[in-house]
Amino acid sequence: MELIPTQQEVLDLFRSTGGLRTGHFEYPNGWHTDEYLQVALTMRHYDAAKLLSVGLSRLVRRNSELRAIIPELSIVAPATGGLPVAYGVCEALRARQVYWAERLNCDEPMRLRQFLEVKKGEKVFLVDDILRTGTKLVELKQLMEEQGAEVVGMAVIVHQPVPGAPNFGTLPFYSLAEIDPKYYKDAKACDLCANGVPLEKTWV
Ligand SMILES: [Zn+2]
Repeated sequence: MELIPTQQEVLDLFRSTGGLRTGHFEYPNGWHTDEYLQVALTMRHYDAAKLLSVGLSRLVRRNSELRAIIPELSIVAPATGGLPVAYGVCEALRARQVYWAERLNCDEPMRLRQFLEVKKGEKVFLVDDILRTGTKLVELKQLMEEQGAEVVGMAVIVHQPVPGAPNFGTLPFYSLAEIDPKYYKDAKACDLCANGVPLEKTWV
C-alpha cells in the first residue's frame, strides 16, 4: 500500500473490517440506501486507524501553506467519531494539540469542555471520520469561529455527501475516499423496498 492509500485500498480496508456494508439500510432521517459505512468499526483496529490517519495527514502536508503552520495547529473534531481521527492526525503531523466539541443531549448545541479556552486567531484544522450531511462540521466550524479561531482546513476519512450537503468553498478539504451510494428519500421511492430486500435501520 502506498503512503497515501488509494480509494480502492481504503474501501477494501473498510469492507475487510466490517465498516462498509452492502445491503438495504434506513437512516434515522428516513432515507434508504444500498451501502452503509460505520467508520468506527474500522477504526477499532489500531493498524487500520493508523494507516488512515497517516494517509490523511500526508494529504494535509502536501499543502505548503498548511505545512508551514503545522506546529501551531489545533486539531479539533466533533465527538465521538472524530476523536480517533483527530489523535491519529495530530500524532502523524506533530501538530500542537487536540480537542473536541460535543453535546450532552442530541437537541443541544455543540460545546467545548469547561475551561477550554480558544486563543483569538488560533489556527484550527477540523477533522471527522465522515462527512455525510455535513451538519456536524458546519456547526463545529461556526463554534470555532465564534470562539475567535481561524479554521484553516478540514479533513475526513470518507466523503459520502448526501444531496444538498455543504460545500466549504475555497477552504482546503481532504478525504481519502469518496463513496457515492444510491439514496432514496423514503420507502416509496426505494427500489430495494420494491424488490423486497430486507431492511436494516441504522442509528447514526
Ligand atoms: Zn428501501
